[in-house]
Amino acid sequence: MERLRKLCFYLAFMFSTITGSTLATPSTCPTDHPLQVPLSSPLHRDTSPWSHPPLCITDKTQPSFKYCVYASSTLNAGHGISFITRSNTEKDILPFLTTTCSPLTDLARRDLAPNTSSSAPYIIRNLPTKNHGRGVFARRHIQRGETFMISFPAVVIDQTLESDDASEHLSDADRFKLFKAAFEQLPVPERALSCAASWGEGNLHENIMRTNAFGVKIAGGRYSGLFPETALMNHDCAPNAVIRFSKTTLATEAVAIRDVEPGEELTISYIPIDLPIKERLSLLESHFNFQCTCKLCSAPPDKQRYSDLRRERIGSVRSLIKKVKETSNVDDLAAELFALVEEEGLQLKLKEYDNELWIVYYQLGDVDSAIKYAEAALKEAEELGGVQGGEDDEVQVAIRRNLGIMRRLQAQKAEL
Ligand SMILES: [Zn+2]
Repeated sequence: MERLRKLCFYLAFMFSTITGSTLATPSTCPTDHPLQVPLSSPLHRDTSPWSHPPLCITDKTQPSFKYCVYASSTLNAGHGISFITRSNTEKDILPFLTTTCSPLTDLARRDLAPNTSSSAPYIIRNLPTKNHGRGVFARRHIQRGETFMISFPAVVIDQTLESDDASEHLSDADRFKLFKAAFEQLPVPERALSCAASWGEGNLHENIMRTNAFGVKIAGGRYSGLFPETALMNHDCAPNAVIRFSKTTLATEAVAIRDVEPGEELTISYIPIDLPIKERLSLLESHFNFQCTCKLCSAPPDKQRYSDLRRERIGSVRSLIKKVKETSNVDDLAAELFALVEEEGLQLKLKEYDNELWIVYYQLGDVDSAIKYAEAALKEAEELGGVQGGEDDEVQVAIRRNLGIMRRLQAQKAEL
């Protein structure tokens, strides 16, 4: 469980693509989320819907484009949001300013100060080991599938400005000027500024983004989003939670992937969870700048070796399942697979494995088993949706369509 993180690399694959067609119908709730700038203010009239005049700097490669800071104080219970994006994409982000009335908003408000809210299922605590910063700990039993944390983004930045060729578009001085404005124009800058800055020396705001940002897609564009509450969750190679992204609210939701007991740290994995230890350590070191000391990575060598062997066996079992011709053989292999998943704490992979199994059973003509695993895969996808990027929706649509066909087949068989 480590403090340092750079989540852009892996989490970019965890989030659903946000497209214009999926946006919620705009709504307003002015009493819940008062604008920081009164409607009667001349500033508001001049800059609406933004709470500050957009600060824009011309792109060096394309003089017709500008990168601008667009800040609104309405999102996230008045804690606001700042976007840095090209002026021609301003229209793509406008709809999100009016989606702050989600039923999740109360939870998000609670999660802005979980330690003082008696209803929050977790608390933020310092980690016992020095220099390891803070972590998120269960305050009560958290059930598998429970959404226990909601976090709206504070700062969202076009990923071009965080890429290796960012300086081709803007000088460092200009880039940092935009970053600074994005943070300072938040009604509560401390929410973003209190995030860890662990990515070496240099500009503070860039460092905070590099350390904590998640990759998201908004209307087809790639952005880095700073979700301050979610960013408090540390890495573990056998995590008990996963992050999913809401297409309609721009919020991240932390969901328990197994039952969590009071006092346990709530963790996520920054990398694919089914890798052997060597690959995990190398990936975490090269992309996230830390050496993992989670329970799995600090286990005695023989335990690590058995863990790797089990993971290897999971791969072999999955390959075998696709090749066998008898359903009884699939039954045996499936039982072995689920036992290995349980032993290795890889419950996050169940959706993928159940999805593979229903297809195999269907191809072998065992409709009853196919329905059983298709329903299990659908349940997994619904509970932990948004985990594998835009694929989730497609998986769910395909399963629902095929479940309909299979249930009709099952009914016909019963009539015979
Ligand atoms: Zn580890």
